[in-house]
Amino acid sequence: MSNKVKCFICGTEFEGGDSLVDNCPYCDWTYLGWENELDPDDKETSNPVTIRQAKKLFSEGKNIWGEPLPPRN
Ligand SMILES: [Zn+2]
Repeated sequence: MSNKVKCFICGTEFEGGDSLVDNCPYCDWTYLGWENELDPDDKETSNPVTIRQAKKLFSEGKNIWGEPLPPRN
């Protein structure tokens, strides 16, 4: 069973929440479900950057890999 989850970085809603590899289709952030408990500067293993870095990249129009974001559907 899957749920609608909301990307912690860019706010995109997508199906997920029940596996360890729920990547946001927009910014490619791997949804964890406990981002609120992470320090913005904590680096965990699922994503290549911290929450703070990912949000900064998103604000610059880039995904978590520093690549241009895809067009919004
Ligand atoms: Zn996202």
